[in-house]
Amino acid sequence: MKNLFPEAKLAIGPAIQDGFYYDFDIEKTFIPEDIISIEKEMKEIIKKNSPFIRKEMPRAEAVGMFESTGEKYKVELLREIPDETVAVYEEDGFVDLCRGPHLASTGRIGAFKLLSIAGAYWRGDEKNKMLQRIYGTSFNNSKDLKKYLDFLEEIKKRDHRRLGKELDLFSISDEIGSGLVLWHPAGALIRQSIEDFWRKEHFKAGYQILYTPHIAKLELWKRSGHLDFYSENMYSPMEIDGTDYEIKPMNCPFHISVYKSSLRSYRNLPVRYAELGTVYRYERSGVLHGLLRVRGFTQDDAHIFCREDQIEEEILKVLDFTLFVLKTFGFEQYDIYLSTKPEKYVGSDENWESSTDALKNALEKKGLSFVIDPGEGVFYGPKIDIKVKDSLGRSWQCSTIQVDFNNPERFDITYRGSDDRERRPIMIHRALMGSLERFFGILIEHYAGAFPLWLAPVQLSVLTIAERHAVYAEKLASELRNRGIRSELDADNEKIGNKIRKSTVRKVPYSVIIGDKEVSDARMFVRKRNGENSGPYNSEELISFLEEEINSRR
Ligand code: ZN
Repeated sequence: MKNLFPEAKLAIGPAIQDGFYYDFDIEKTFIPEDIISIEKEMKEIIKKNSPFIRKEMPRAEAVGMFESTGEKYKVELLREIPDETVAVYEEDGFVDLCRGPHLASTGRIGAFKLLSIAGAYWRGDEKNKMLQRIYGTSFNNSKDLKKYLDFLEEIKKRDHRRLGKELDLFSISDEIGSGLVLWHPAGALIRQSIEDFWRKEHFKAGYQILYTPHIAKLELWKRSGHLDFYSENMYSPMEIDGTDYEIKPMNCPFHISVYKSSLRSYRNLPVRYAELGTVYRYERSGVLHGLLRVRGFTQDDAHIFCREDQIEEEILKVLDFTLFVLKTFGFEQYDIYLSTKPEKYVGSDENWESSTDALKNALEKKGLSFVIDPGEGVFYGPKIDIKVKDSLGRSWQCSTIQVDFNNPERFDITYRGSDDRERRPIMIHRALMGSLERFFGILIEHYAGAFPLWLAPVQLSVLTIAERHAVYAEKLASELRNRGIRSELDADNEKIGNKIRKSTVRKVPYSVIIGDKEVSDARMFVRKRNGENSGPYNSEELISFLEEEINSRR
């Protein structure tokens, strides 16, 4: 950079996961062509194989040196280093501040690539000057570099924002507002399949489904502690009939209120309430990201009210349920974290200890390996977080299971014990998918938009060869729809090759082609998205073929 742009001031340039970056203060705005010439210069430097020489010097001397070369950012950094002695590295007359270690010489650098240019505020503070950041990566050899670049390409191809547009699944628009999602018909159909599955399985697992309002009195959020602990994520209150109301950031207080609406005895517990509850949370505009970070979203939320002696068993059930749901979506690898008591907490140490043990025991009984995240629990109790690995091996935080002995106290909820005395239940908060929006974003990337049959918005397209086949094809498509199979007719006046291509681009799992023979035999082959054929089937056989795959959720 200094060879090509001597006027550039150097800020910081650390190694990061998968690569490195460097921030520069320079008048000129970098363009992609600059990247090419910078890479060329880098190759020259590598070819020279000049050594990196470490020099240690008193800090004051280093300050003087960088002041004389006008590197004001280095001077600022140096002023904050408490050590009396600092290290710099010199390479062919170029000196940079660095703790080290370095490679012995430039020739040791393997394959590298500069990846992108971005704006970045000095020290990440928007009050500071905007610098230009160049990202890059480096590997031992070009084979490993290529593998990584292919991986980046694959990530780009699977970007849910791109696929969301191509497949017309959802949109987020300026007209509506940042971080607010519109589910388009195809995306909404996928969501419906997820929700239907979710409701059915919750019913089987002994949950009761609730619906609760989107707003509630501010007073409620005071009582729940959200105003004290969570206000930076909440929107401004609104006034209704002289009373302040607040849009909900969480569903918990509503479920507590339902629990409270009748008397409970030890025999009634556990009570399991679940809701696809839509909440709104303030996120800074800079962190919003497609479906992954939004301002309004629907949690697959549940609250279990149980006796202390039931915690472990309930956690075991929740774990089974969670892993089953995740597996259904093709996530079979997880990283599990157990977060323990944070610095600021409520509740007795005894409660913390027993509930942390309950979580730990449940994980051990299931034979699940986990990592302890010390001090990362919520203020009201310990929790288990599950991160799933997608088809590219990337980790995503989805499920969370939290024990809570604070809210039962705050809202004074009780049950009548076997000794006829009032006791406090324990509350378990849990979300399996996290939020439907975020989970959908993850699924789009995980499946690269090619959803399995049970989720696909259109499951089968019926394609006609000529106009005379349209009547039969229409009848078939509507018969399939009547049997709950999402079929769509393409009887446009187009070549069959085009119709197949359109169906493939939309990633429709199956198609059938209707021509003279299919009409006269009333039998047809079904063509899979990957080009495989099976059949011929009559319409009844076709329906069972599809139903079997739909029901298996493969
Ligand atoms: Zn909750």
